[in-house]
Amino acid sequence: MRKLTTVVVLISLLSAGCKDGPKPIDLVFAPSDDVALGNQLHDEILANPEEYPLLDETEHADAIAYLQNMADQIIESGELDYAETFDYKVHIIDADVLNAFAAPGGKMYFYTGLIKFLEKEDDLMGVMGHEIAHADRRHSVRQMLENYGVQWLLSAALGEDPNQAATLLAQIAGAGASLKFSRSDEADADSYSVEYLSQTSYRCDGAAIFFQKLDSAGLTSSTPEFLSTHPSPENRVQDIQAKAAEVGCSTEYFAPASYNDFKAMLP
Ligand SMILES: [Zn+2]
Repeated sequence: MRKLTTVVVLISLLSAGCKDGPKPIDLVFAPSDDVALGNQLHDEILANPEEYPLLDETEHADAIAYLQNMADQIIESGELDYAETFDYKVHIIDADVLNAFAAPGGKMYFYTGLIKFLEKEDDLMGVMGHEIAHADRRHSVRQMLENYGVQWLLSAALGEDPNQAATLLAQIAGAGASLKFSRSDEADADSYSVEYLSQTSYRCDGAAIFFQKLDSAGLTSSTPEFLSTHPSPENRVQDIQAKAAEVGCSTEYFAPASYNDFKAMLP
C-alpha cells in the first residue's frame, strides 16, 4: 500500500515533462507499456463488434488510408514526443455517434457519425489533433495510474485478466465513458491540437470550429469524449483562438475537396 501511494505521489508531482529525453512517468510506466495496454484495449474492441462495429480494413481500405494520411501529417509534424514509439493507427467505427477517442499508445477511433457531421477536413483535423494529444501527452495513462495504481495497470497491459481491458475500455470509449479527463488535460489537448496543426497545411484552430459546430447544432449537452469536462465550449473556443494567435498560425480553411470523396467512401 505504501509503495503504491509513493508511486502515485511521484506521478502527480512529476506529471509534466520536456520534449527531449525520458520523462519521470517513463520510469514508472514505460511508453511501450502504453502500446501494450492499447493493444489489449483493441483486442477488447475486436471482441465486441456489436458495440464497436469497426470498418473492415480490407473492404474499406481506401477510407481508412485516407484518414491515416490525415493522421500521418500530424505524426510527421515533429511535434510529438512518441511518434516513433507509439502505434498511431486510425480505425473507423461505423455508428452514427459524434465521438472519437484515443487509446493509450496511439490507436485512434473515429465514428462515421462524426466524420459525416463535419463539413471540412480541417474540422476533423482539429479533433484528431486533440485525440493525438491525449495519447502523446499520456493523459489517460496518468489518470488510470492514479485510479488503479501501477501494478494493476501493468497487469492490464500484460493482458493477465481480460476484465481489466473491458473495465478500461468502458472508461475511455462509448456513450457512458467515465474517465473524465481533467479540465487541464482538455485544455492541454486543445492547445496541442493548435501546435500540431500549425505544422500542417490545415487551419490550426480546427478544434474550435468543431466546438462551434456542436454548439450551433445544439449538441453541446451530449457527452462525447471532448465534452467530458468543463471548461465550457465557449471558453474553449476562445482559448483555442488565443493559442492560434499566439502561435501565429493560419486560421484560413485548407479544406481539400477530397474530403467529400472520403465521406462518400463510408457506409
Ligand atoms: Zn479530450
